[in-house]
Amino acid sequence: MKLFTVGPVACYPEVLEEMGRQMYSHRSKEYLQLHYETVELLQRFLETENQVFLFSSTGSGFMEACVRNCVERSILCCVNGSFGKRFATVAASNGREVVKVEPPLGEPTTPEMLDEALRQHPEVEAVAITHNETSVGLINPLRDLAAVAKEHGKLVFVDAVSSMGGTEIKVDEWGLDVCFSSSQKCFGVPPGLAIGSVSEEALERSEEMRNKGWYFDFKLWERYHREGRGTPMTSVIPQVAGLNRILKLIEEWGGKRWYFDLYLRRNRRIREGVERLGLSLFPKRGYESPTVSCINAPEGVDGPTIYQRMRERGFELAQGYGALKKRTFRIGNMGYMEFRDIDLMLEALKETLESL
Ligand SMILES: *Cc1c(COP(=O)(O)O)cnc(C)c1O
Repeated sequence: MKLFTVGPVACYPEVLEEMGRQMYSHRSKEYLQLHYETVELLQRFLETENQVFLFSSTGSGFMEACVRNCVERSILCCVNGSFGKRFATVAASNGREVVKVEPPLGEPTTPEMLDEALRQHPEVEAVAITHNETSVGLINPLRDLAAVAKEHGKLVFVDAVSSMGGTEIKVDEWGLDVCFSSSQKCFGVPPGLAIGSVSEEALERSEEMRNKGWYFDFKLWERYHREGRGTPMTSVIPQVAGLNRILKLIEEWGGKRWYFDLYLRRNRRIREGVERLGLSLFPKRGYESPTVSCINAPEGVDGPTIYQRMRERGFELAQGYGALKKRTFRIGNMGYMEFRDIDLMLEALKETLESL
């Protein structure tokens, strides 16, 4: 089966090989060396001097961590689809008040919308932004949104789960207080590891926070990191080793700009291919995601039917998500993927559509 999924995605063979090694203790010299080297590689990748924590959880763990460490009463969530909604749910389920900015599905949050909402709700402590909303294949203007939030003096939390690794993110320059991702998306590593940078300001907020829990306590993680002890609890060592390998491979292959360009080229090949078949993309023009294409199913055809028929031909795409389940299907371009397979997939899609 060839994977065009949106996570977990196909992993690089070199990554899988690295992960197959015998275990060692997370307190051993070997792990600590791997840990600190990986953190340094990530800091360089994200252009940040902030702390980078490697949680033994999926990316959503960082949503909970943002809320519990840094939000006492209320948060503003930009909702462009299912994952923005999840952030709001996480905040609400922790008893925080949630203000939502929710443009029509398929449209980005604009800096003007955010500015207006922050004028109306000066009480919120933080703004949560989904950089790349995987459910609708849309990318938000993160840099501009973060600038607006900073003008209002708010903390900025970024769900970069399906963008980190696949497109540019400059944590320090853009003023992102917490910026997190998961191993199983653009880095092409199996699931189980969450990656996130945390700013000094976020750490200061955490210091004052009461009842923030233990597992995701930023200050606990900071202390272990600072004392040279790595992680407070057992680390997902194989995933960290896999991530370390892909970060070094990216450097060998030509650096992160080369890698982002590779994603763009794959994405363009897919987009041009589906447009040649007479299909259109769901999101507003100019905001199409560089890591996942959300495609409108043709008139009279169900998205899930296309997904199922493509599976029968050996290609695992992704179904539409949430409200768009029936109307769309998605094609990811994350992880390990060859251009030749993109062309074969497009050929199979052409035959599938002709047969329906
Ligand atoms: C996949 C995804 C998530 C969920 O990540 P988990 O690792 O499953 O917790 C959150 N946000 C976005 C944008 C995603 O694509």
